[in-house]
Amino acid sequence: MTSTRPRFRFAPSPTGSFHVGGARTALHNWALARRSGGTFVLRIEDTDEARNRPEWTQGIIDALAWIGISADDAHFEGPHFQSENADAHVAAAHRLFESGAAYYCDLTGQEVQDRAKELGLTGYDGYSRDRGLEAAPGRVLRFRVPDGTTVVSDGVRGDVSFENETIEDFVLLRGNGTPMFLLANVVDDIKMEITDVVRAEEHLPNTPKQQMLWEALGATPPRWAHVPVLVNEQRKKLSKRRDKVALESYRDEGILPGAMVNYLMTLGWTPPGAEAAGSEIFTWAEMEADFDLADVTLSPAFFDVRKLVAFNKQYIKNLPLDEFLAAVDAELPVDWDRRRFASIAPHIMERLERLGDAPGLVDFLFLGDGVDPELDHDAWAKASAPDWAAPLLDDVIEAYSALGDGEWTHETLKAAMETAMGPYEVKLGKAQALPRVAVTGRAVGPPLFEAMETLGQIETIRRMRSAVTRLGESSAPD
Ligand code: GLU
Repeated sequence: MTSTRPRFRFAPSPTGSFHVGGARTALHNWALARRSGGTFVLRIEDTDEARNRPEWTQGIIDALAWIGISADDAHFEGPHFQSENADAHVAAAHRLFESGAAYYCDLTGQEVQDRAKELGLTGYDGYSRDRGLEAAPGRVLRFRVPDGTTVVSDGVRGDVSFENETIEDFVLLRGNGTPMFLLANVVDDIKMEITDVVRAEEHLPNTPKQQMLWEALGATPPRWAHVPVLVNEQRKKLSKRRDKVALESYRDEGILPGAMVNYLMTLGWTPPGAEAAGSEIFTWAEMEADFDLADVTLSPAFFDVRKLVAFNKQYIKNLPLDEFLAAVDAELPVDWDRRRFASIAPHIMERLERLGDAPGLVDFLFLGDGVDPELDHDAWAKASAPDWAAPLLDDVIEAYSALGDGEWTHETLKAAMETAMGPYEVKLGKAQALPRVAVTGRAVGPPLFEAMETLGQIETIRRMRSAVTRLGESSAPD
């Protein structure tokens, strides 16, 4: 190896969307590459032609950037494309043939299966090993698996031994001469001087084969590490068909990148400071400094969307206001007055699980003057039921109407409400129920007095008067 600094790589196959499991693998490689002063190589494994669209590559780069893996960072290299290296894959295969490490076989897939069945084997029996076949159309090139044991030294699981007799002579080149994934992946890793392969556990069965290829090609195998996969609530591997796995879909529904990164990093790994801190919320710098493959748990990690959302809630709450306003902006209707939103924003931040929840919480502030909010009828029925509710609303209207310029602040509004409710001997929570439904249409929402302050005196009082009219109508005889 000419390079002394570690070289990690992330080698996604472009498939249209970016899997959260892939994001986690990318983050592991990113943390390790940066911490060691090494390099994170992005290689797009695009040799499957059906999966080869430029916009998908851009999607990967954008998704990586969203989770903080920036192509502008000094530790980032790429993207490289597997397809650009196709000649090297074939040349390597030919070298293996020349050296005797690989041989051609003319059996069809069906013939291989039939023989295996006849002989009671699970795979290819080495039929053409010593037949001395040359290359010809339709003949596959197979690797001659040597006798013995292959020990994969894995950064997560320690030494894992594979008996070579359980590994069939696997195919390197198809009958049409195109390279298989195993070969292309190794040839690229050798060419890119990769020192560390950190990837999902599903590739562990490939690893003894790949290690043999590294050796047969005269290179020193990398350090391997296979991280347990992500599973869903039923403990099944996360799948595109069953589960929401696209990173983009979480981005689009208002999960903050910091929350996603923090959650993905702490899946199957607990930062050393977590117990003392009583929290799993960590900055990227902290996680990058502490992440260690040896501490990753061996069991599959449950990707729990509820927990991700709980992380997100924390992250939203902790955002500086200006960053919150910038992040939430895309979720707001274009015609909403941003200044008005900014005035209520500090009062809703800690209630949001997702940025996308924001508009629904404050939409009653953006209806335009003279428009009543849509009414939650249950909330209205409940809030208007007590016999003191209507008279108190009248008193509140009177008190609020008397407020002069400069007095329309949430503090004054609260104080005036408290004065008005005195004679009725009710608590503030109950007293504000009907005014709240009148002004917001609902029983829950942002703090009422702050909302009224934002809405303004004229419209707040108008809505309360409109509620008085509605009360009159509902108590009128049929
Ligand atoms: N393209 C492979 C995948 O996306 C890469 C496997 C590897 O990391 O070696 O699964």
